[in-house]
Amino acid sequence: MRRDFLPFALPNITDAEIDEVVATLRSGWITTGPRVKQFEQDFAAYVGSARAIALNSGTAALHLALDAIGLRPGDEVIVPVMTFTATAEVVRYFEARPVFVDVEPDTLNIDIDQVEAAITPRTRAVIPVHMAGQPCAMDPLSALARAHNLAVIEDAAHALPARYHGRMVGTLGDLAAFSFYATKPITTAEGGMLTTDNPDYAARATLMSLHGISKDAWKRYSAEGSWYYEVEAPGFKYNMTDLAAALGVVQLRRCDELWARRAALAARYDRAFADLPEAAPLVVAPNLQHAWHLYIIRLNLDALDIDRAGFMRALHALNIGASVHFIPLHLHPYWRRLSGHLPDDFPTALGAYERIVSLPIYPSMSDQDADDVVEAVRTIVGHRRKPRGLRRCPDVRTV
Ligand SMILES: *Cc1c(COP(=O)(O)O)cnc(C)c1O
Repeated sequence: MRRDFLPFALPNITDAEIDEVVATLRSGWITTGPRVKQFEQDFAAYVGSARAIALNSGTAALHLALDAIGLRPGDEVIVPVMTFTATAEVVRYFEARPVFVDVEPDTLNIDIDQVEAAITPRTRAVIPVHMAGQPCAMDPLSALARAHNLAVIEDAAHALPARYHGRMVGTLGDLAAFSFYATKPITTAEGGMLTTDNPDYAARATLMSLHGISKDAWKRYSAEGSWYYEVEAPGFKYNMTDLAAALGVVQLRRCDELWARRAALAARYDRAFADLPEAAPLVVAPNLQHAWHLYIIRLNLDALDIDRAGFMRALHALNIGASVHFIPLHLHPYWRRLSGHLPDDFPTALGAYERIVSLPIYPSMSDQDADDVVEAVRTIVGHRRKPRGLRRCPDVRTV
């Protein structure tokens, strides 16, 4: 067993990021300015979108995406039930209705048949979440959305860099929202990015990102700008700072390197768990690049005499940090009250929730760290495996 605790997630910050932040502090320009512009241009070029708008969170990016498509009170937006609350909460900002749908058992990505069944005359948009960094089945989803005139907003918080059939996540829908929260594939501490090819959406999101003011602060106060501005709408205060963008510019430059390390750790886990059916990784579909933000295993509870909560406690006791992504939305008090859903309404998400564990996967982990995780999982499974004859008898204790 390892001596020191292995955290579930850590940001990967090098001297290059630190030097860029210090240079920004010394430059005299700390809020939205040249580094934000640079980050936006670099990000748009990296994912291959016409425009990228830097914001202070991924949630802000989701909010401005729904504003850009003109969401109105009473409209419906289809959201997978297996996601973080931000994906659905932004719909409520408009007094519109998030309509939950179940996910696929093997990927935890949105189930396209369930999307089709949930479409009504009030449906305006669907928000596929690329769960753990694995792109959703975007071709059938886009075809369905086109047939029903729905906007597609990618929740790409986990999915940088990720590709579906060769195309980058961030270019697969009408708009996409990325997160740069501390644990996400690249980080600005807090931050987000909205990408789109639609110039009208980009113009509206830019306007609404800073008080509905028709020029941004950089243009207003820099030498070539002027003091004059006009307010065109009751906008928000969602602009990114140059301090955050200083982190982002360097993290984006390192994005491929950071991804390669996560992918190598995922491959190491895949090999280690191949002969451990009690702890089966999610399935990765062919012809895509997974961003490996999360590495999720599913416990075979029939074969073990321990539940997921007990498994998490045992991992912690062996000095391994772990987490659960996600508690399905309809189990939370607010969403339960609002939607009136019962736990069984989304049987796949509920069944998955009871058995999923997210293992540590981040670039500063060594091979030894990953092997320690594997050893801890194997130790717990070894101690808690039921003899075959006793399976499906959850009351029988065998250890
Ligand atoms: C992190 C996350 C968000 C929100 O991003 P923030 O930058 O924290 O606002 C949205 N959706 C999903 C699926 C996330 O994991």
